[in-house]
Amino acid sequence: MHYTAELAKKDPEAVTVFIGPCVAKRYEGINDPLVDFVMTFEELDALFEASNIKVQECAAATFDHLPSAEGRGFAVTGGVAAAVNAVVNGRVEIKPICINGIKPAMLRLFKMYPKGKNPGNLIEMMTCEGGCIAGAGVVCSAKKTVKDVGKFAAQAAPITSMNKDENKE
Ligand code: SF4
Repeated sequence: MHYTAELAKKDPEAVTVFIGPCVAKRYEGINDPLVDFVMTFEELDALFEASNIKVQECAAATFDHLPSAEGRGFAVTGGVAAAVNAVVNGRVEIKPICINGIKPAMLRLFKMYPKGKNPGNLIEMMTCEGGCIAGAGVVCSAKKTVKDVGKFAAQAAPITSMNKDENKE
């Protein structure tokens, strides 16, 4: 969010709006000096409804730069760890532990880490079970969204094919 806002702000006329899945991210956005406005997907949906905007009928926008497959897939549990793994690209062995939702079994796993008993070396913390696709401010069921995000990610190139030079360093 911050670095995307930084890119956008290279245009002095740019107004940045962070749209996210929950109040936690909303809070993070509102405290970022490069983010002008924040809203959740639910609020955006309400805005579309009130303005009678049908997203399906809008013309598709083109992008200057397309995100990677991992960049598209991070919002599903396991996606952040997969993105880190792709960027590290074998230079270090990544053994991710995904905390998938705040529930007793996950908290027990999390508490093992400071005791040195956790088998992983990277913790991905998803407060919402399923990941950010299940945030309190989203409008679709996580079950449906996980499939849609998977399809959306599969349409993009993997990080390893995008940052070849960077990954050699
Ligand atoms: S996991 Fe849930 S609480 Fe955490 S950032 Fe994603 S939507 Fe927000």
